[in-house]
Amino acid sequence: MNPSTIAISLNFEHSYAAQLPEFFAPVWPTPVRQPSLLQFNKSLAGELGLDHEELTTDIALRIFSGNELPRDAQPIAQAYAGHQFGSFVPQLGDGRALLLGEVVDGQGRRRDIALKGSGRTPFSRGGDGKAAVGPVLREYLIGEAMHALGIPTTRALAAVATGEPVMRDRPLPGAVLTRVAGSHVRVGTFQYFAARRQVEHVRKLADYVIQRHYPGVAEDTERYLSLLRTVVESQAALVAQWMLVGFIHGVMNTDNMAISGETIDYGPCAFMESYDPEAVFSSIDHAGRYAYGNQPSIALWNLARFAETLLPLLGKEDNERAIADATAILDTFMSTFEQHWYKGAWTKLGLAGSDEIDSLKESERTLVDDWLELLSKNRVDYTLAWRSLADAAEGNASTLRSLFTSPTEVDAWLRRWKKSQNGVASSQLASAVRAANPLYIPRNHLVEDALAAASDDGDLTRFERLLEVVQHPFDENPELARYAMPAPTKFTANYQTFCGT
Ligand code: AMP
Ligand code: MG
Repeated sequence: MNPSTIAISLNFEHSYAAQLPEFFAPVWPTPVRQPSLLQFNKSLAGELGLDHEELTTDIALRIFSGNELPRDAQPIAQAYAGHQFGSFVPQLGDGRALLLGEVVDGQGRRRDIALKGSGRTPFSRGGDGKAAVGPVLREYLIGEAMHALGIPTTRALAAVATGEPVMRDRPLPGAVLTRVAGSHVRVGTFQYFAARRQVEHVRKLADYVIQRHYPGVAEDTERYLSLLRTVVESQAALVAQWMLVGFIHGVMNTDNMAISGETIDYGPCAFMESYDPEAVFSSIDHAGRYAYGNQPSIALWNLARFAETLLPLLGKEDNERAIADATAILDTFMSTFEQHWYKGAWTKLGLAGSDEIDSLKESERTLVDDWLELLSKNRVDYTLAWRSLADAAEGNASTLRSLFTSPTEVDAWLRRWKKSQNGVASSQLASAVRAANPLYIPRNHLVEDALAAASDDGDLTRFERLLEVVQHPFDENPELARYAMPAPTKFTANYQTFCGT
């Protein structure tokens, strides 16, 4: 049974479908038995211009369950390939997702509106095309938290329970997520056509992406090289932002890296608790390929795969020249990443004096490096350590010292930090630290607790409370003290995350 169409328009446009007809399969969402709204993102709806009166809760439920389609929807499943844990899979694609259409938001940005968990598609392979309540709410929550932390991300517009079970290791309540993205073009989208040696398709895709995301390079003489440079820069900036808040994506396959520079696909992601570059929580990441500290080098590895897809566009006659040009750009990744990282870390230290990233002196980098070494040696909670610097700036280092097994080591470092402050008033320094360091991140134990209540008991109160907290990560509220606390050590030692929405 196909969904019916309702006489409402969401002002959808379809630039992807219109310009890239070979890049997708038309598909219908599979209607669900008994939809109920788990969550609707009113503020995002407002941003997208979808807060008009016609879109009542009832209509939203009908549309975002996939049971009915607005008359201007054109649902498609997008094709892509990807390297999963280093192995190339030539055909992945939207196996449980579909794009309904694009809207142009209040700031003129084109955003995809897609359903995830809406049933089988021609790309489903053996999968059921479905999603479960827990992972859907997880993606909703983490996306909102990342957004509130100022990190580019896809976001959730709605989460709808289907009233139907999905079969995983046990039957779980099903759900559909409505995801909003700058676009869903991935490194893997390029790989899909490059692997089939369809160079003109790769060119069309590159042109589409330039027009949609990076119009500033459209007029460049070597625009595909400029595209590569821009994507390299945006990923370097993104991964630096992840590292600064302790975010571990968990499954940085090339099909999970968006060309737009947004964080995409919150599967087995987690936030690091005590600082440990080797931290990894994903149950399937046995080798630690996607561990916290590996993320910059994995991003570079993925970008090298992206660069390979562009090679035929870079040098028609001279492949070696193309390789040399692409390599030169890839070679800038680590230094661009480091600039963003140190600039961000310096800001987190409350010391954002100069705007010039390049001007950070060796001694300033060392101050950051030594701080991390202290955190690592003492296995200190990453989020609390940074945030406690605010109190320390105001002369109360007791919270910070209490996090360390050997507090005297941090005293010596604090003296060096104080020296770097160049006479900034302590109150000003403390507010700078508080503005740059979140107090509330989605703590893994609280996330699991909220999702279990929602999934097992249909109780959304804990989820909604946690969502509210992580949407205001920098604003301290004494009543919320428990949301700032690390998980019990026993929890973290056994914590595992799982793929699959
Ligand atoms: P992910 O690990 O979520 O990035 O997904 C990797 C690939 O598996 C993508 O092509 C997905 O569409 C597909 N996939 C994951 N789960 C399912 C499912 N339940 N049904 C169909 N395809 C799926
Ligand atoms: Mg994916």
